[in-house]
Amino acid sequence: MMILPFTAALALLFASGSALHDDALTQPIPGNPDWMKPQSPLKLYGDTYFVGTGGISMVLIDTGDGLILIDAALPQTVAMTEASIRHLGFRVEDIRYILNTEAHYDHSGGLAALARGSGAEVITSSIGAAALRAGRADAHDPQASSLPEQPPVPDARGIADGHVVRLGDTAVTAVFTPGHTPGSVSWTWKACEGEACVDVVFASSLNAVASGSFTYTAQPEVTAALRASIDRVEALPCDLLISAHPDNSGGDVKIAALQAGATPNPFLDPSACRAYAERARGRLQARLDREAS
Ligand SMILES: [Zn+2]
Repeated sequence: MMILPFTAALALLFASGSALHDDALTQPIPGNPDWMKPQSPLKLYGDTYFVGTGGISMVLIDTGDGLILIDAALPQTVAMTEASIRHLGFRVEDIRYILNTEAHYDHSGGLAALARGSGAEVITSSIGAAALRAGRADAHDPQASSLPEQPPVPDARGIADGHVVRLGDTAVTAVFTPGHTPGSVSWTWKACEGEACVDVVFASSLNAVASGSFTYTAQPEVTAALRASIDRVEALPCDLLISAHPDNSGGDVKIAALQAGATPNPFLDPSACRAYAERARGRLQARLDREAS
């Protein structure tokens, strides 16, 4: 069988009309064009693969007994994600669980369509799952006043902090990291190449962003939660970081380097979680300073 380059495979996919125009679950939600940029899938480490877009991270884990997907990007990028998964030689139908970092449409808008296409169970925090089931952000979300609705995920399951999702040889642990959204979750697992195992962290967004009349100054409990989440990510065992938006941790540069064959693997960086936390802390402080001035 001839293996097409990923972009050629995508062009074929869209020319064949696989993207259905009357499908409610894949109706486009307008957003940053970078989030829709095609990105060739690639192996990050061991059985862990990047299947996201140019601006949104998604990770696929081959557990040996089915697949785990983390995050889903937008409704209109679902066909691209499915193409990425197939391009790596996997079957979309073998996804057993889809884990979610936050109920914002750029990370969860495609969940309903991907769950339908795979039959996978969608799992996140209880607060996040309630938002996914409703198809809209939690009322206490700092961006609640400006977020568009997204296709509801009727069967989204809520779990507790520290819950472990087990499949095949893989155990993925939920680390609650509220602040950017009330229900945000980071996920961590071990990926191995032979005897060499590394701690992988898929970190939720820790950005202090708000809309409407929301201020962090007037919501000290949200600010405290975000600070605690930043501290928590900073302290995680972390050899390899994937941040929900790759460019928030230099992931875009690492992906390009890895794709170009860089060695050693640019994603293997034990300081990455600390740097990500430091950036988020600076961003929160800048926001508080702006609100005070
Ligand atoms: Zn967000």
